[in-house]
Amino acid sequence: MVYEYTLKTQKQNFYNITSFVKNAVKQSGIINGIAVVYCPHTTAGITINENADPDVVTDLLYALDVTYPDRPEFRHAEGNTTAHIKSSVMGASQTVIIDNGRLLLGTWQGIYFTEFDGPRIRKYYVKVIEG
Ligand code: ZN
Repeated sequence: MVYEYTLKTQKQNFYNITSFVKNAVKQSGIINGIAVVYCPHTTAGITINENADPDVVTDLLYALDVTYPDRPEFRHAEGNTTAHIKSSVMGASQTVIIDNGRLLLGTWQGIYFTEFDGPRIRKYYVKVIEG
């Protein structure tokens, strides 16, 4: 079973989707296994990072902008190459272990959907696998 979620995004941001992933695991009834969180977009991604201090997300967005600025040498006609780069840096998915019905995340870890070319209506999937 695949759980599908939609998300309305801003131009660029990180969205904490941990509670939705937890709900998918609960709904699946699977006690031990893995949850795969997958983003089917080329200018967005999924990552795991700090969930406590919102300044971490602010700093990550700033650092990504500084590290991957727009360049006149970029050829992609759509003009959003930096968003494609950031998407690949984040990756399209994360896999989290489910142990005894709960996600084995660290205390300070949250699962984020990352937008780099919004605003858009985005989708992500959660697949829960027993094992
Ligand atoms: Zn593009």
